Amino acid sequence: MLTLRQLFLANNAQTTDFPLLLEFERAKGVYMYDGNGKAYIDLISGIGVSNLGHGNPHVIGAIKEQLDKYMHLMVYGEYVQSPQVRFAERLVSLLPPHLNSVYFVNSGTEAVEGAMKLAKRYTGRSRIVACHNAYHGSTHGALSVMGNEEYKQAYRPLLPGIDLVRFNEPADLQMITEETACVIIETVQGEAGIRVPDKAYMLALRERCSQTGALLILDEIQAALGRTGKLFAFEDFNIVPDILLMAKALGGGMPVGAFISSDKIMVALKENPILGHITTFGGHPVCCAAGLAALEVLLNENLIDWVDAKEALFRQLLVHSAIREVRGKGLMLAMELETFEFNKKVIDRCIENGVVVDWFLHCSNSMRIAPPLIITEDEIRKACGVILEAIDNCIK
Ligand code: PMP
Repeated sequence: MLTLRQLFLANNAQTTDFPLLLEFERAKGVYMYDGNGKAYIDLISGIGVSNLGHGNPHVIGAIKEQLDKYMHLMVYGEYVQSPQVRFAERLVSLLPPHLNSVYFVNSGTEAVEGAMKLAKRYTGRSRIVACHNAYHGSTHGALSVMGNEEYKQAYRPLLPGIDLVRFNEPADLQMITEETACVIIETVQGEAGIRVPDKAYMLALRERCSQTGALLILDEIQAALGRTGKLFAFEDFNIVPDILLMAKALGGGMPVGAFISSDKIMVALKENPILGHITTFGGHPVCCAAGLAALEVLLNENLIDWVDAKEALFRQLLVHSAIREVRGKGLMLAMELETFEFNKKVIDRCIENGVVVDWFLHCSNSMRIAPPLIITEDEIRKACGVILEAIDNCIK
């Protein structure tokens, strides 16, 4: 009989020759447990998803409650489904006034697609500005605005009219013109290895978009909902986007994404043609119920209040001659080592010793540190101890 691992390799599509191949049976809080009961600290939250950790009882309760009422009833946007309505209402109550119209989708990349279509329709323009080293998803549109040619070249032709600018480089903002439909940018770049832009840059970007009439799309798919120490990452920059993108942590572990704009802009999707964006499962009632419950836990338990102190503890502990830099904001951090080879060795050793970490798509010499926001001081100390031991061990 084949083992689960062998079946996984045989029947589940593989996209690399080196999957992590970890096999977990259950997960609770910041821990994931393998078949032998060995506990692993989850220091990456399934790439920014599990902000509340695993198995939060409020989220599970909300899911069960909704399961007993109904699951899928109709494609998005036709029936009045209370989980979607309540979730959108709560999100809007927390956002600046003009971000009052929420379109729920299933994933981050789908939020990107919807937002870019909306910007094209609303402005009547077609050029899109995006950043070098950006990651916005893997469907054709999102791939078109990825800032790394290596991942794009084999899939051309992609969308035409994409202008790539350097992230955090004010001089390049001149590439935003009156032909630009939108600028899509991560408020804090994720897969580039966690890059926090300057406040002045973000202000100048907002200004340039307003001047030229280009819509500003902030991709907070990885950064929103407390990860950077604010509910929304843009709060740190004194700017507001025309369209905000979320996914990942939005569903409390269930798949849901959203593009959020003003009703004035969103109206473009219902005119000539009607049904400008369609999704069957977007805003699935069970996912929205989970998302709303997760948002309430995040706020009621004041989890965001502790993020800065937890960041400071990581920074205080992760000091070693082999660590070149710890970058980032809140619990969205990157620890830079010298090379990918060394990083990979350290990561393997960490996993062996019960701390799950990985690297970044566009930055392979840096280690991702993005634990659930509920991680405790003791757990941070334990995880950092394992990382430092791994570095020492790999230097030998
Ligand atoms: N934008 C950003 C900033 C992301 O980090 C990701 C996922 N890593 C996406 C978009 C795409 O999200 P998804 O995988 O849900 O399509």
